[in-house]
Amino acid sequence: MLTRAPAAPTTVEAPYIHCEDLFKIYKTEELEVVALRGLDLQVRQGEMMAIIGASGSGKSTLLNILAGLDQPSAGKIHVGERDLLTTTQEDLVRYRRTEVGFVWQQTGRNLIPYLSAQQNIEVPMILEGATRRQAHARASYLLEAVGLPDKAKNRPEQLSGGEQQRVAIGVALANDPPLLLADEPTGELDSATADQVFGVFRELNEGTGVTIVIVTHDRAITQRVDRVVAMRDGRTSSEIVRHVQFARGRGEVVEEYAVVDSSGRLQIPRDMVEQLQIGRRARLELSDDHVEVRPEAPPERDEPRWRRR
Ligand code: ADP
Ligand code: MG
Repeated sequence: MLTRAPAAPTTVEAPYIHCEDLFKIYKTEELEVVALRGLDLQVRQGEMMAIIGASGSGKSTLLNILAGLDQPSAGKIHVGERDLLTTTQEDLVRYRRTEVGFVWQQTGRNLIPYLSAQQNIEVPMILEGATRRQAHARASYLLEAVGLPDKAKNRPEQLSGGEQQRVAIGVALANDPPLLLADEPTGELDSATADQVFGVFRELNEGTGVTIVIVTHDRAITQRVDRVVAMRDGRTSSEIVRHVQFARGRGEVVEEYAVVDSSGRLQIPRDMVEQLQIGRRARLELSDDHVEVRPEAPPERDEPRWRRR
């Protein structure tokens, strides 16, 4: 079948997605918005990971850049062999068609309303030169993979929201791209349906080795992926990693780390900053195996310095 084989282990473990000190500045007539400010992110080939963060933190900006729909202002961004900062417009078109699949939040934006589920999945393949027969066979296979073999003839309006998103995943995977991006794909679904959709992503990831990046503000995603990266103010701020612990009985551990970027910067979570009243400066002290961060000590006396002499 026309399926991607599980990713072969490469000798050099270069990340599939590599972003370093990435900036995106939107310029409008009156103001400039810095949507990404020095973002670092690495994603392994075959990984399924999620990006969470408050509204306005730059998640969609990052995903649109990864999808080749927009170009960054400065920094480094590589996907596979491609440098997305310097690539030509022509090459970006090719990239969008064959190297990356995209699922939007708005169910209506993913599908053509007057075509059936089957036909929706066939369209991208026919545009890429597949024969009707090839397109038909792969669309049937993908409908099966997303759990909807009996809905092939239904038009989008004859499908539930969750079913529409599953067809949308089929459309995104039509040309067998190595990378699948989804921007709030479950934003319009209830939590049980959302979980089913996340389950489909997971099965496809495990079955075909496709790399998946999902943007969501649903923290429940932590249960479905190996790694969650949190964004704040246009940068990655922390990472939640799940792994199986073998010591002291097999159990799953969820750990949250602060991200240290390529310049050694890290963000102190806002609640810690507030609780310790850390202002513009903090004192760092190196111990044997850790660093302590303390708020700047208040001045001992508040009388003017000239009087203390
Ligand atoms: P998120 O997806 O995390 O909610 P976005 O990436 O959409 O965040 O937006 C990040 C910031 O960039 C926001 O301040 C937003 O207003 C701004 N922004 C996004 N798109 C544009 C645009 N096309 N023009 C100007 N500002 C934009
Ligand atoms: Mg968004």
